Amino acid sequence: MTKPTHTTPPPDAAARRRAPPVLTYSVERLPSFDASFYNRARAELSEVAELTVPPRRAKAFEVPAGHFFRIVSVEGPQVGDLNLWNAHDLTERFYSGKTRALHATHLSTGDRLWSTFPRLRPMATITHDTLDWYGWDEDGAGVHDVIGTRCDPYTNLLLKGTEYHHCCHSNLTRALATERKLPLEEAEVHVHDVMNVFMCTGYTRDTHQYFMKASPVRPGDFIEFFAEIDLLVALSACPGGDCGASHSDDIAKCYPLNVEVHRPPEEALAGWRSPLPSRYSRSHGTR
Ligand SMILES: [Zn+2]
Repeated sequence: MTKPTHTTPPPDAAARRRAPPVLTYSVERLPSFDASFYNRARAELSEVAELTVPPRRAKAFEVPAGHFFRIVSVEGPQVGDLNLWNAHDLTERFYSGKTRALHATHLSTGDRLWSTFPRLRPMATITHDTLDWYGWDEDGAGVHDVIGTRCDPYTNLLLKGTEYHHCCHSNLTRALATERKLPLEEAEVHVHDVMNVFMCTGYTRDTHQYFMKASPVRPGDFIEFFAEIDLLVALSACPGGDCGASHSDDIAKCYPLNVEVHRPPEEALAGWRSPLPSRYSRSHGTR
């Protein structure tokens, strides 16, 4: 259903609507994705860490720059909510909105996960995605979105009038607090809008409202990231499970997610270095 309108369209309404869409950013000027570099680096990996995120929980872990990490579906279809921070400075964190504006509503191989101002640089690059076959379905949905936020107890209370404590926001907060030995309130302010790994979402065609549908992910599927800087990562196994029906409750069938951290051979990274922070003067016109 579309919203009722209260105004009469002007006589030239059709002409105004025919203005051609123009890509908002000159994305062809972004640093290019050097597939041969990443493919060479990922050709011979040694696993250095492995962990399991239990259902309705989150875990935080570090990934050194130049390492890869994979989020792997195990046991059953499960969505993951991903946060990234600079391991040495939590104020530099994943900027979901700018990543969406630079790449697309949903991410896959070759896309970067950009950090917040004032650094604005790639924190991670997606180097492999076994769900890249999905593309866009007939509902306009895709996988791995940066259009949602993260399920949270505040919105849940607003809409349902009940408290639920295992939303991704709370899971990520607890995981960060534990990992960095921070008081819960201090950890909470660092939790940010996520990349919804494996989640299948879109906007409805008629009202452009955010919708979800059962994730196509199956055990064995994985998405792989290259850490462009030293990362602190937190991953929540969403209480929505495959997010095909509900979230923010204990109803959906949920599964664990596995995480693997891999190191490429040193020589594969020869000449590579972490992207530098933005060189903007930060004068904002005052100097
Ligand atoms: Zn969630």
